[in-house]
Amino acid sequence: MSKILTIGEILVEIIATERGNGFRAPVSLIGPFPSGAPAIFIDQVGKLGQDCAIISRVGDDDFGHLNVDRLRADNVDVSGIDIVPQGTTGSAFVRYREDGSRAFVFNIRHSACGTIELTGNAARLAEECTHLHVMGTSLYAPSVVDSILAAIRIIKSKGGTVSFDPNLRPEILNAPGMREALKAVIAQTDLFLPSGAELYLFTEATDEKDAVKELLATGIKAVVVKQGSVGATYFDQTRTLTSPGFAVEEVDPTGAGDCFGAAFVTFWLNGAEPEQALLYANACGARAVTKAGPMEGASTRAELDAFLVSQKV
Ligand code: ADP
Repeated sequence: MSKILTIGEILVEIIATERGNGFRAPVSLIGPFPSGAPAIFIDQVGKLGQDCAIISRVGDDDFGHLNVDRLRADNVDVSGIDIVPQGTTGSAFVRYREDGSRAFVFNIRHSACGTIELTGNAARLAEECTHLHVMGTSLYAPSVVDSILAAIRIIKSKGGTVSFDPNLRPEILNAPGMREALKAVIAQTDLFLPSGAELYLFTEATDEKDAVKELLATGIKAVVVKQGSVGATYFDQTRTLTSPGFAVEEVDPTGAGDCFGAAFVTFWLNGAEPEQALLYANACGARAVTKAGPMEGASTRAELDAFLVSQKV
């Protein structure tokens, strides 16, 4: 069985319970919830029973231990998470605007996860794993970018594969070096998982067909476009497949794309047909939005099977 690796931020998320108020006055909050896009992704991979690991750093504080405990409980190899005695674990405060869109206040740049290096257990895991999943959000700190690019080189030199979810937030898109790092990662990507308009991030094309054609011509094997409640579409050199969204009550959209990606990558690496990978990923994304908290809606295989039965699939 292949072992899936991801590298990047672990943090906690604290959520405003009411829409629209902003953070310039006191608001009611819930949390902390374990979070960080790579952490949500790998937690979902672990819940599906797939061998997997994360390389990260947290502080020796409650926020850090909350995350490590959750990931370990969900079958993730946490040996690559360094607990930094003098460090702190990052946080993200999230509020929902009246229109349902999200605004974040991030405290991650100076947290322990901004100092990730590919040494010790992290270097061992890069040798051990056969697939790396990269999240755009992780490309905000030079040492993390260096670690990701070094891990890509190691995994690719053994014939392994790379998946990439740009997962961009306007708050971090203009971080120094971000655009160069995004380009370096896409050049090594086998499976590209953009959300909506992120499809056009690396192309001048303005039409979906041309954008996909251009991306596949660069050596990317498959593109899967996530489309929120609409569902998702898969493209490779010979096929275009769509999976309409499942009708669920959306409580909190954070983490849907990460859970979707985790399910797709897991099924894809295990040799599933793209139809099946897309269906399960779509189900996983739908279930993820039904719970408050980014990792709280992650699913086991049995839960996904039961969900698909309930949806008469
Ligand atoms: P991201 O979180 O990366 O922006 P999306 O919002 O597109 O990604 O969500 C990822 C996937 O999760 C979608 O392609 C879909 O499968 C599922 N999903 C997201 N929101 C909903 C929703 N409201 N109802 C049903 N499925 C959803």
